[in-house]
Amino acid sequence: MRKPFIAGNWKMNTTAESSVALVNALKAAVKDVTTVDIAVVPPFVYLAAVAKAAAGSNIAVGAQDVYFEGNGAFTGEISCDMLKDVGCKYVIIGHSERRHVIGEKDDLINKKVLAALKAGLKPILCVGELLAEREAGKTAAVVTEQTTRCLAGVAADQLLNVTIAYEPVWAIGTGRNATPDQAQEVHVMIRKLVAKLYSQELADKLRIQYGGSAKPANAAELIGQKDVDGLLVGGASLKADDFAAMIKAAQ
Ligand code: PEP
Repeated sequence: MRKPFIAGNWKMNTTAESSVALVNALKAAVKDVTTVDIAVVPPFVYLAAVAKAAAGSNIAVGAQDVYFEGNGAFTGEISCDMLKDVGCKYVIIGHSERRHVIGEKDDLINKKVLAALKAGLKPILCVGELLAEREAGKTAAVVTEQTTRCLAGVAADQLLNVTIAYEPVWAIGTGRNATPDQAQEVHVMIRKLVAKLYSQELADKLRIQYGGSAKPANAAELIGQKDVDGLLVGGASLKADDFAAMIKAAQ
C-alpha cells in the first residue's frame, strides 16, 4: 500500500508573518491525521521559521528548488546541505515554472535530483506536458522522456526516496484540472515506465502525485484513482482550511 502524500507548494507567496501563521493554522487543522504524509513548501527565506513552527508535528517541510553543487561561487543558489540545515525533508525539482519560466532542462533537473538524493533529501520530481503537446497527442512521449532523463543515474535503492509529481502544465494555476481519468491514464503510463526502468516491485511502491488546479472540490475524486497517490497543490495550499480539507480527503 502506498501512503498518500499531499504537499503544498506556496510558490512566491506569503510573508515572514503569514508563512508561520499558515503553518500554525494547518498544524491545528490536521493534528490528528496519521495516514497521510503532509508537507508544506514555502519560499527559501521562510523555510527556517516554518520548519521551527512545524517541528514535532505531522507536517514536514520542503523547498521549491535546489542547486546541485555543494558550495562555492554560485551566486543566488542554495545547496542541499543548506536545505537540510534549516529542516527540509523534501525538495521540489523540475517544477513546470522552473522549466518553462526560468528555462531549466532535463539534464540540470537530473543533476539536482542526484545531488538531493546523495544529500539525503527526498525529491518531488515534476513532469508534465504543455497544452500544445497534449493536443498533438504527445503526452506519453513528453512524460516518458522527462521521467527517463530526470531519473538517469538514480539507483534502485534510492528510487523510493523520490516522489514523481505528474503536473500537466495546462492545468497548473489555470483552474482547469486534468480529469481523474486523464490523471489516472498518465500515472499508469509513468508506473509502467518505472517498471521497465527498474522493476515492477519498485514501480508498485513508488508514489506518484497529481498536480494542477487540485482543490477541495476535486481532491477526493482525483485521489480516488488507483494510481494517484497524492497531490502537489499550489493555490489551494495557501488557505489552511482548503489544504486541510484536501489532506482529509486523502485519509
Ligand atoms: C503547483 O504549483 O505545483 C500547482 C499544481 O499549482 P496549482 O495547484 O495552483 O495549479
